[in-house]
Amino acid sequence: MPATVTDLDTLARSIKLWGRELGFAEVRIADVDLAHMEAPLQAWLDAGYHGEMDYMASHGMKRARPAELVPGTVRAISARMNYLPSAMGDDWRAREKARDEDPSAAVISVYARGRDYHKVMRSRLQQLAERIKGEIGDFGYRVFSDSAPVMEVELAQKAGLGWRGKHTLLINRQGGSFFFLGEILIDVPLPVDPPETPHCGQCSACIQVCPTQAILAPHKLDARRCISYLTIELKGAIPVEMRPLIGNKVYGCDDCQTICPWNKFAQRAVVPDFDERHSLGSAGMVELFAWTEEEFNRRMEGSAIRRIGHERWLRNLAVGMGNAAVKARGQSDIVAALLSRREHPSAMVREHIEWALALHGAV
Ligand code: SF4
Ligand code: SF4
Repeated sequence: MPATVTDLDTLARSIKLWGRELGFAEVRIADVDLAHMEAPLQAWLDAGYHGEMDYMASHGMKRARPAELVPGTVRAISARMNYLPSAMGDDWRAREKARDEDPSAAVISVYARGRDYHKVMRSRLQQLAERIKGEIGDFGYRVFSDSAPVMEVELAQKAGLGWRGKHTLLINRQGGSFFFLGEILIDVPLPVDPPETPHCGQCSACIQVCPTQAILAPHKLDARRCISYLTIELKGAIPVEMRPLIGNKVYGCDDCQTICPWNKFAQRAVVPDFDERHSLGSAGMVELFAWTEEEFNRRMEGSAIRRIGHERWLRNLAVGMGNAAVKARGQSDIVAALLSRREHPSAMVREHIEWALALHGAV
């Protein structure tokens, strides 16, 4: 292990360089004192804003105490990786907006159109840790990406990778917010980087655009109202009163990010893993609703979408197909697709289909 401050400075510079070689846009270092987050975290949990995400609560204050999670931790190496698919044209924000307006389109969050980022991030962070090990020998560490026990946006903010926008996601001045975060908790006292200052200013575009009013106030998200939660995390029926607000979003939602002015600086992915698969950026509801369970599992192999399973996939699509009635009531291919699954073995799927058919006047 490095013995002097100079050694640690050199090591920190090398880690940032290696990180870029591994495809990260930026790697920075933070201390792990998140004591200031304990009260807000407890208040958020007490309000029940985490909904069914019990794993958020089950880790308790360990989330704000990385050294309790991984004993010996004194620093977080925080990394971000851009994920906008490289083939997306410069007009991507306008195209996404146009898809939102198309009642037949099945809108899938951009991050989920390629390979499962959890695996990509963890594997590359692991490679970064191996390179550090090659330099200094054994040291204590653990890698995370989008993992419940770690407050990764807070650590990334501390490390200076960006600031927490009013929509609660991290924003970077050079890269917007379309990036994944991951971190290595380590027991090496590397020099820390300064945090970034906030740059939302008077803007509140994300709060206004949110279709479900899930952003209750700047930096305060009621996850139970967020379309990402409703279409991904929620296991049971989608509350009836929320369904019309979901529109044609069938897996996640990017509205608060797409509207954000900082995302004119969003960067393309440099790794091929996030390239769009199975035309998920242009698919229609009817086409995706026709996938059998076997097709869903096969096509979504290696995708984060596979985690929700075919039943929730059909549930989400049924909601989107019902909402199509606002602009295309009774559209024959949509109604026929819904009718074709009316006898589905899942009571939840059947109930969502009946709801959708009623909107089309087809019951
Ligand atoms: S992801 Fe969509 S639903 Fe969730 S807060 Fe952002 S705009 Fe609202
Ligand atoms: S839309 Fe505006 S308020 Fe929201 S995160 Fe972006 S800059 Fe901040």
